[in-house]
Amino acid sequence: DLVPVRRALLSVSDKSGLVELAQALAARGVELLSTGGTARAMREAGLTVRDVSDVTGFPEMMDGRVKTLHPGVHGGLLALRDDEDHVAAMEAHGIGAIDLLVVNLYPFEAAVAGGADYDTAIENIDIGGPAMIRAAAKNHRFVNVVTDVEDYAALLDELKARDGQTSYAFRQRLALTAYARTGAYDAAVSGWMADALGETAPRRRVVAGRLKQTLRYGENPHQSAAFYVDGAARPGIATAEQLQGKELSYNNINDTDAAFELVSELAGEAPACAIIKHANPCGVAVGATLADAYSRAFDCDRTSAFGGIVALNRPLDRATAAAITEIFTEVVIAPGADEDARAVFAGKKNLRLLLTDGLADPAAAGLALRQVSGGLLVQDRDTGAVGEADLRVVTKRQPSEAEMRDLRLAWTVAKHVKSNAIVYVKDGATVGVGAGQMSRVDSTRIAARKAQDMAEALDLGAIPTQGAAVASDAFFPFPDGVLTAAEAGASALIQPGGAMRDEEVIAAADEAGLAMVFTGMRHFRH
Ligand code: 5GP
Repeated sequence: DLVPVRRALLSVSDKSGLVELAQALAARGVELLSTGGTARAMREAGLTVRDVSDVTGFPEMMDGRVKTLHPGVHGGLLALRDDEDHVAAMEAHGIGAIDLLVVNLYPFEAAVAGGADYDTAIENIDIGGPAMIRAAAKNHRFVNVVTDVEDYAALLDELKARDGQTSYAFRQRLALTAYARTGAYDAAVSGWMADALGETAPRRRVVAGRLKQTLRYGENPHQSAAFYVDGAARPGIATAEQLQGKELSYNNINDTDAAFELVSELAGEAPACAIIKHANPCGVAVGATLADAYSRAFDCDRTSAFGGIVALNRPLDRATAAAITEIFTEVVIAPGADEDARAVFAGKKNLRLLLTDGLADPAAAGLALRQVSGGLLVQDRDTGAVGEADLRVVTKRQPSEAEMRDLRLAWTVAKHVKSNAIVYVKDGATVGVGAGQMSRVDSTRIAARKAQDMAEALDLGAIPTQGAAVASDAFFPFPDGVLTAAEAGASALIQPGGAMRDEEVIAAADEAGLAMVFTGMRHFRH
């Protein structure tokens, strides 16, 4: 199953690594065929190249829309070398076999990400490239197809190891990647068209990703796993640079994403910190300094913070780094770290430090996907945010300015807590978080209980929920949740409103002397 590579067709938009590859192929005596710009780049490097138009007998035409779409090319890619009829057809029509195809496509994804208008996007849809890739991939019994600059080295290694030939298994792997590439390409085109046409539920939907990392295992050790990214340049877990520490695990990636997305909501605030455990925040705070924010977030639930993920909305500094290293932390993610902070972390080899290029944009449009058996649930990301004008005070008592600030922080945090979510905030720091319960009143009780436990453990004396602001991610269906919060000492509530029993709920708040604000927006997160 070894096949010698004698003739190659190279046609690439991304010309990085091209000349080195072509030189190595030429050195092996491989004949080089190529299209306009690619041929030019190779000739400039002194290589001997034959133009595809010489093979097809047609010039490249129609702004490059038609360059390689010709039997002279596709026959050379598709012909079965061990089939008499195919070989006879090649001879009859003067078609030469192509053993290696190196193609990377017009940069459609980059053009669209860069804000290309409709017509420009259309011009960036490659036609001949995917046609050749699919032809070569189909004929992988004889043909090598390389669609990724990152695979050039592997190709050269294979040729070297096998004396100018490649194995069937190698060609199969290339073909597999090639089909995923053309699939992803068309997914990008149809995804862009769905956006352009405002089509929220197109008849077919394709999602695609590029392998960033194979993972040691998934959520549990008996599950295999890998991390695929969409290639977009936005700050976040997919693009963060890891400076130190062990490789990220599946759960690390999931939790770090949750942490960074949450802290990014606090972009305009003071220095802020979010500590995440199992995708739920166990402490979020703003502070006078970043170290202050960290320590206040930590004090919300020191027990859970152990082995947690820390996300910061400012570059990590020495004082914060020092505070973080006092306990075991899995991952720290921040939009930068100064030299002193790096020096502090350098002594903690296992601590993973991820740096991003700025904060995530909570308002960025995009899709959120969830798998169910037999299908995918697709929805818009939850970019919902309430402004000043959306907030409606429904109780006799108005919240004070300080309460309002805490309510807003509690509301933002609640958006990032698994439902049912209840968040108590006091003076810019969470003091109790109730997450993932099946009943809202249980979340309300658990959050208050945790606050109480922490106060006892820290010997605070004061009850942390006294005068706290409480957020609920969805409406209180009954007055019991409000009563529980009031019993814990809370003084203000924020919730969407809209329950059948709103009146009863408001009456209970009034009776307890609470201020309550309706947002008119819900933030379920399951
Ligand atoms: P070059 O820079 O060599 O002029 O063009 C290389 C690009 O042209 C590659 O991205 C390749 O996929 C693309 N390409 C090759 N043949 C065709 C064709 O027949 N039609 C179109 N639209 N693109 C082609």
